[in-house]
Amino acid sequence: MAPACSRINSLHVAVIGAGAAGLAAARELRRESHSVVVFERGTQIGGLWVYTPQTEPDPLSLDPNRTIVHSSVYDSLRTNLPRECMGYRDFPFVPRNDDGSRDPRRYPSHSEVLAYLQDFAREFKLEEMVRFETEVVCVEPEGQKWKIRSKSSDGIFKDEIFDSVVVCNGHYTEPRVAHVPGIDSWPGKQIHSHNYRVPDPFKDQVVVVIGNFASGSDISRDITGVAKEVHIASRSNPSETYEKLPGSNNLWLHSMIESARKDGSIIFKNGKVVQADTIVHCTGYKYHFPFLNTNSYITVEDNCVGPLYKHVFPPALAPTLSFIGLPWMTLQFFMFELQSKWVAAVLSGRVTLPSEDKMMEDVTAFYANRDANKLPKRYTHKLGECQVDYLNWIAEQVGAPHVENWRGEEVHGGYRRLATQSDTFRDKWDDDHLILEAYEDFLRQKLI
Ligand code: FAD
Repeated sequence: MAPACSRINSLHVAVIGAGAAGLAAARELRRESHSVVVFERGTQIGGLWVYTPQTEPDPLSLDPNRTIVHSSVYDSLRTNLPRECMGYRDFPFVPRNDDGSRDPRRYPSHSEVLAYLQDFAREFKLEEMVRFETEVVCVEPEGQKWKIRSKSSDGIFKDEIFDSVVVCNGHYTEPRVAHVPGIDSWPGKQIHSHNYRVPDPFKDQVVVVIGNFASGSDISRDITGVAKEVHIASRSNPSETYEKLPGSNNLWLHSMIESARKDGSIIFKNGKVVQADTIVHCTGYKYHFPFLNTNSYITVEDNCVGPLYKHVFPPALAPTLSFIGLPWMTLQFFMFELQSKWVAAVLSGRVTLPSEDKMMEDVTAFYANRDANKLPKRYTHKLGECQVDYLNWIAEQVGAPHVENWRGEEVHGGYRRLATQSDTFRDKWDDDHLILEAYEDFLRQKLI
């Protein structure tokens, strides 16, 4: 069943997507002497970080035939990680020029991340590998290889054969929407954070924001400046939760919504009732690979993509099909770089994978451990506390150094600040010593 490497060394590889993951993959694959074509349906590199004021016509993005807007970035977005730990390892995300156009803050705006990715692409001459405005519409095995069908912006379809395919299509475009009992007869408006850009449409409204992780927390604070009241509903809060949040006088935190009623009211599990105008679903996204045809070998069930060995290789299709960037709650760019080095080295034959059976055993044990810990399937790719172990494991496969102590400490401290001081964590911190260590490290390695 598995298309296999017909030879080692230099393969013809298709990369799907020119976001931060696809760029890392393209660089590492070329470094390993593979020939690379990056398919990108947008007009520029950067993926999620290409901000657009445009949104999808369906505010909940439920219509499968809607015109897709890729980015979910809102106008006020600043990074949720400090820049020195967020970048690729050998191309640190430090302020790079001082002509006034860049954002030197430690937690910079989305435009600074895009500028950083453009710097990265320029430095390593990555754009020459990218075919812009070319959407991959089908990927399927063809003998021992892969057939890719793409569609260019002028509507022309093209079939091509590749030795290997690396999927880097991002996973913050296909919204997950919370189920609220009674919502069908509730008369208010609903929108998913994917289609949120600026607070202006919420002027003088009573808004309920579902979800209190990074986007929920940011968007609710963004809206408080113009709205009458903002109420955050979070399923991770105990049912009695009801508190006024610091930093504004019209923001409340509740437990989850109990039900919505046709008189416009929203009832929370804590018993509070508000007459709301709009619900904003900050409830995350779904992994979505509409182009992938593996005869149902790879499935997405409750946001678990599988089976995948170490979140990257489907055992029966490895190594010629791989996925970069699925795990979340981690040092994303750093992980993209390591996973890409691993894929590139396995494809060239420099590093070998275990047998298909052994990989499957590992996947089965991983799922059993997840279930034993009563983690829902949708957390399969959440790394969080175990991210350093995961990243170090991949680093060992490719002979790269382990995660630096300062980087690991920064990210853990960053999560802590995000949870405990969500209104101020981007401008107030207590880890200047780690910034110093990071810059000393960059200088020592002559990276800056
Ligand atoms: P994307 O950036 O989404 O790129 C995927 C690319 O694939 C896109 O260019 C798309 O056009 C292309 N594509 C998709 N399908 C096809 C197809 N069929 N054919 C051709 N091309 C295709 N991470 C951080 O490290 N720090 C942060 O502060 C941070 N903030 C975030 C804030 C928000 C609101 C969200 C949603 C995510 C945030 N993240 C953050 C995570 C972020 O997603 C990653 O950092 C990273 O940018 C994802 O890169 P990617 O390449 O995997 O996906």
